[in-house]
Amino acid sequence: MNPKDALHQFFGFESFRRSQAAIIERLLGGGHALVIMPTGAGKSLCYQIPALLPCDDEQPQRRAVTLVLSPLIALMKDQVDALRAKGIEATFINSSLSREERERRYSEVAEGRFRLLYVTPERFRKPEFLEVIARREVRLLAVDEAHCISEWGHDFRPDYSRLIEIRELLGQPTTIALTATATPDVQTDIVRQLGLQPDEIELFHEGIERPNLRLDVQEVWGDDEKLEHILAVRDVADAASVRADAGSVGHGSGIVYFTLIRTLERFSELLRQRRVPHVCYHGDLERNDRRRIQNEFMQGHCPLVLATPAFGMGIDKEDIRFVLHAEIPGSMEAWYQEIGRAGRDGLASDCLLLYDEADLTTQMEFIRWSNPDADFYHRVYDFVAHDHERATAFGLDWLRDQLHAKHKHDHRLETVLGMLERYGVIEGTWDDESLQLEVLSALPDELLDRDRLAIKLRRDQEKLLALVQLIRHEGDRMDFIREYFGQGRKLAMPIERP
Ligand code: ADP
Ligand code: MG
Repeated sequence: MNPKDALHQFFGFESFRRSQAAIIERLLGGGHALVIMPTGAGKSLCYQIPALLPCDDEQPQRRAVTLVLSPLIALMKDQVDALRAKGIEATFINSSLSREERERRYSEVAEGRFRLLYVTPERFRKPEFLEVIARREVRLLAVDEAHCISEWGHDFRPDYSRLIEIRELLGQPTTIALTATATPDVQTDIVRQLGLQPDEIELFHEGIERPNLRLDVQEVWGDDEKLEHILAVRDVADAASVRADAGSVGHGSGIVYFTLIRTLERFSELLRQRRVPHVCYHGDLERNDRRRIQNEFMQGHCPLVLATPAFGMGIDKEDIRFVLHAEIPGSMEAWYQEIGRAGRDGLASDCLLLYDEADLTTQMEFIRWSNPDADFYHRVYDFVAHDHERATAFGLDWLRDQLHAKHKHDHRLETVLGMLERYGVIEGTWDDESLQLEVLSALPDELLDRDRLAIKLRRDQEKLLALVQLIRHEGDRMDFIREYFGQGRKLAMPIERP
């Protein structure tokens, strides 16, 4: 069987799209690849096809498996279900499974079942998993959503920065990293975090452009103008869905993003007064409510959702007709990632960014809160290391009190804990009520390096500034975005992060 046969046989597709065939060929030849392709372009096939091609020298027990690292537990099940429906032996192992089920899958993997195995990078902390995966030959490692490697701050995934160790553990398998958005800096960082040199990995940059998305920015002043825009975009989406449905009254689905829950609630009230049906989604809601609201939106029962960035992980709804930002998001990357949820079905969709200069202050403040200084690192460390008993007994809220960090948007504590974990200083879990952690080592100098912290702060500010520059940009905005994401450029040599 060759790649093309597998494409016909398993997926029923006629031909490969753009660079898919070249990427597959590269992987089959044992070369590493970094793939940047817009959402919906077909990144998954690039590793799924090689995973399905049997190898001549395979022994039944150590049958090769393709390991897919994905940060999205919410999407794993859907992806695996879709593969199984095609008769492909795939499975996932994550914390959503019952213990029994997990153990069953562990032994199946150990026995040599499955061509594709989906896990989160966190799985590598489990000794049982390490034991099981050691019995298989991992011929291909696929790192999906690879930009998570470099996402600092409150959104970052510490375990993505263990990729060097993970690859070592797996015997340096052929590796493919995939993402829809990565700046040249992030691309370099991905390569570095994989433990590779730029000349060992080939960059396939298909651009980031989604031709069916209509991007627009509008400078506004105050709530009234914002509301007008929200209603207008919704009307356009409704009109489009009426046409698509041949006359029936339809509502095009849309997301309106807010930075602050406070603003979101204010607009919810304004919309309620105008009898505009909608649901609200944000991090302060109970888990069950969040799940219910997400389902209502996914199933199309309520086409309009007002949301904070907490909404999005696992949103794979095809027919989202608009994504509107009512407040400026924190970075160019965040904005581009969020609008990427629109128009996955390929139909025209609107992405409107509303810019009220007053909102910039909020984001500047957020950036400040996500960049603790060296002194703050010291204080957190002192508490968890020397006041360990009380810290674990009373949890994060107590710790926050001790640090005088009670401001609503102050997530310096979470940032510091995340970084301490990333550097292997601590290990454990935490939330507002509880804190279960172990201190493994002293504070490394890197975390206290004032220059390094200053550079990180400046980088965050630049990412926000880029968005403001985009808004002010006189020429073609898409050119500006392409330039930002390094389209047409080669992989740069890594610069040691200070
Ligand atoms: P991405 O991960 O890049 O967002 P996916 O891998 O989920 O995109 O693919 C998006 C859709 O495109 C899927 O429904 C997939 O089956 C389809 N697709 C991918 N490659 C091809 C192809 N060569 N021919 C036809 N459809 C394809
Ligand atoms: Mg994908």
